[in-house]
Amino acid sequence: MSVAAFAATFLNEVYTVSTEVTRATFNEVMVPNYAPSEIIPVRGEGSRVWDKEDKEYIDFAGGIAVTALGHSHPTLVNIMREQAGQIWHLSNVLTNEPALRLAKKLTEKTFADRAFFANSGAEANEAAFKLVRRYAFDHFSPEKNEIIAFNKSFHGRTLFTVSVGGQAKYKEGFEPTPAGINHCDYNDIEQLKAIISDKTCAVVMEPIQGEGGVIPADKEFAQQVRDLCDQHNALLVFDEVQSGVGRTGTLYAYEQLGVTPDVLTTAKALGNGFPVSAMLATEKVANSMVAGTHGSTYGGNPMACAIAEGVIDIVDTPEILSGIQERHDLFKSELNNLNEKYNIFQEVRGMGLLIGAELIDSFAGKAGGFVSAAEKEGLFILVAGPNVLRFAPSLIIPKEDITEGFARLEKAVIQAIENTAAA
Ligand SMILES: *Cc1c(COP(=O)(O)O)cnc(C)c1O
Repeated sequence: MSVAAFAATFLNEVYTVSTEVTRATFNEVMVPNYAPSEIIPVRGEGSRVWDKEDKEYIDFAGGIAVTALGHSHPTLVNIMREQAGQIWHLSNVLTNEPALRLAKKLTEKTFADRAFFANSGAEANEAAFKLVRRYAFDHFSPEKNEIIAFNKSFHGRTLFTVSVGGQAKYKEGFEPTPAGINHCDYNDIEQLKAIISDKTCAVVMEPIQGEGGVIPADKEFAQQVRDLCDQHNALLVFDEVQSGVGRTGTLYAYEQLGVTPDVLTTAKALGNGFPVSAMLATEKVANSMVAGTHGSTYGGNPMACAIAEGVIDIVDTPEILSGIQERHDLFKSELNNLNEKYNIFQEVRGMGLLIGAELIDSFAGKAGGFVSAAEKEGLFILVAGPNVLRFAPSLIIPKEDITEGFARLEKAVIQAIENTAAA
């Protein structure tokens, strides 16, 4: 057989999946760090998902605030196919056009002058936390190495990012963790004043805490954090891994706070589900990462960057961004209606399409029960801690899907209330 004929047999061959798996397979082959539900989703289109039994679900979760343009967005599918037929991978010793195009767009559209690409939120944060220390080392002294972050914050699961994160349970049993990190309460400027000093190299914050319970920063607090950073020559890092890419109604949430950080991280929705993240920084700060100081094999690969460029082009348009506020209002009024009928929430809050509904005290710790009840009714929702239901749907979710989703949520709420009463 000629080489060409041999290659052709592969080209024409349709690869068929032959390994049968079920939910039980998870317990046999996976590290038990997750506890997935029983259903097996296999297909998605827009804000609807179907499982193996062809049961349909409405998606108010978007992964976890990831699929901002819904499932199988036709433009993104085309971009992915096109790029897959061109080139998948380039090492960082070669010039990569999709990465440069994406960096150009992100720096044109934000405060930043420079971009570094990685594959996940944690990696973008890892780069940011290394950068702020390196910057202080270059411009001040090795003693200026303290990072201040906020209680309840979430910055990822690597050792450095769980250490900066403000949730003790994610560090437990993994000590010793990196030193030089302090925490104080979010939206409490007096606490920050008490611990910030000239040894602080950076303050790290989410403009709206996601995992911690969907808690927006007060505008005044954010401005005071910025001022304190400036007084102490500390950098301000905004973790916009969850709040970025239109999620809060502007491309990045800092635009609405009126406070500009020195470093910003973005991930989740950036690739609409294809792994990609970025750390954005001003030129002066970025210059501390000279050649050889940091890197990533896959970070900024052509596939990821081509897709992310498409996501940014689609999201950063007046039609999409203005539609987010309309949908926010719809979600809020639907949640308030539910609350009038069933008296389950003490507060409904959030920005754009990152919305939290905190359960009243008699349902404390029961948020997970509402999620399972919703799934049974054909609806995906999220928790943000044990007491808060979180909604992070596609930014372009059709209004009919919102209405239908809330009809399903009402049934789930009735069920969850019954389950709680029976328990
Ligand atoms: C999800 C999240 C991360 C971690 O992102 P990964 O991609 O899971 O590493 C970091 N920060 C915030 C604010 C997040 O919401």
